This record gives sequence, structure tokens and C-alpha cells, in this order.
Amino acid sequence: MIKENLQKIFSELPEGVELVAATKGRSSDEILTAIDSGIKIIGENYVQEAEKKFEVIGNRIKWHFIGHLQKNKVKKAVQIFDIIETIDSYEIASSLDKVCYNENKVLPILVEVNSGKEKDKTGVFPEGVIDLIKKISCFNNIKMQGIMTMGPLLKEPEEYRVYFKLTKNLFNDIKSLGLRNVDMKYLSMGMSDSYKIAIQEGANIVRIGTKIFGKG
Ligand SMILES: *Cc1c(COP(=O)(O)O)cnc(C)c1O
Repeated sequence: MIKENLQKIFSELPEGVELVAATKGRSSDEILTAIDSGIKIIGENYVQEAEKKFEVIGNRIKWHFIGHLQKNKVKKAVQIFDIIETIDSYEIASSLDKVCYNENKVLPILVEVNSGKEKDKTGVFPEGVIDLIKKISCFNNIKMQGIMTMGPLLKEPEEYRVYFKLTKNLFNDIKSLGLRNVDMKYLSMGMSDSYKIAIQEGANIVRIGTKIFGKG
């Protein structure tokens, strides 16, 4: 099934859009099947879970961190991940920068936007994003490369559009500022139910789990 699911998704994916397989809760075997079927990037939500899978899978693919990063997991995260998609505070960016400095690495990051302004969710409210990016763009060992958003959980795919539009506008606003050390390359938005809308609204990274692996 994984193979067929991926064939269908790849056949419909426009050029220039990167597919991240969201693999939380999926086994290393499932991930290896996805890799055999063309997956080049996986997204993991938990550092500990990723650590176990990394022993099996290693760096034959790229690893994106898409969960909420905790300070005590930063060091391990730096050893595993190629990009952290979910930076949402100065503090976490600062400790990431320190660890990267010590490990002699420059790690790409995205800032997570809480586009639905949901109090109990992670990410920065849209009005705070530019300020945060200005503050963290002075760090030398992390490299700001774009923004990501989840958006609220909604019933109809079409309902996501407004949040994706808002995030894309923010992306353009940041880009037009031309900040030093900021390279607005990636706009990560859209999941199984919403990725087609997200692509229409300008996403160039989509993160898909259920539609590849089935219901978890
Ligand atoms: C689980 C997850 C996804 C994928 O969700 P699906 O609905 O299973 O496609 C995408 N992004 C993040 C941050 C996730 O945690």
C-alpha cells in the first residue's frame, strides 16, 4: 500500500514541491519501504523516537524535525536532523545555536507560525514572527530558511486556505525585507487532508503521514 500511495502522490506533485513523509509512530520497516518507493525526506516529531530509527536508517535520507523541540533534546537533535522546522522562541534558537557552534555545524531552521492563533498550540503568532526572525538572524550557527505552519484542525480541506494564504503573505513580507542571514527558501505547509490547497497557496514543502502510511 505504501508504494501505491506514494506513486499516486508523486505523480500529482508539482515540480519544485518537496515531499516530507511524516513518520511519527511508524516503524523503521515502513520507513524503509517508503524510501524504496522514492521518499528522500522524513519528518519526525520526537527526538527519542528518531534516535532509534536513525540507528537503522542513518543518513541515506534527510531528516526534518517537525515536533516541539525541548531544550534538553537539542544536542541529540543536532546530531540527527538536517533541518529544524519548528523554531518558535528566541530561547530555543539560542540554545540550538550554541550546540551547533560546539558541534561545528550550521543548521538550517524554519520558524513555526501559529497561523490560527491558537493559545494551546506551539508556534509564533503571525504578528510576532518578523520580530523573532530579526532577533535570531544574528546567530551564526543556525540559518533561517523559511517558515512552516500547521493551522487549526479543520473538517473541510478548503477551510485551510485562509491560514495558508496568511502564512504565504507573511513569507512574502519577510522575503521583501531582505534581512541579512535570512534566506527565504522554504514554505512548509499542508498535510494529508490539506496539501493540495497548500500547494495552490504556495507551499514548497508538504508533510504527509496518513495518506502514505494509512491511519496510525
Ligand atoms: C503528523 C504530522 C503531519 C502529517 O499529518 P497527516 O495528517 O498524517 O498527513 C504533518 N506535520 C506535522 C507537524 C505532524 O505532526
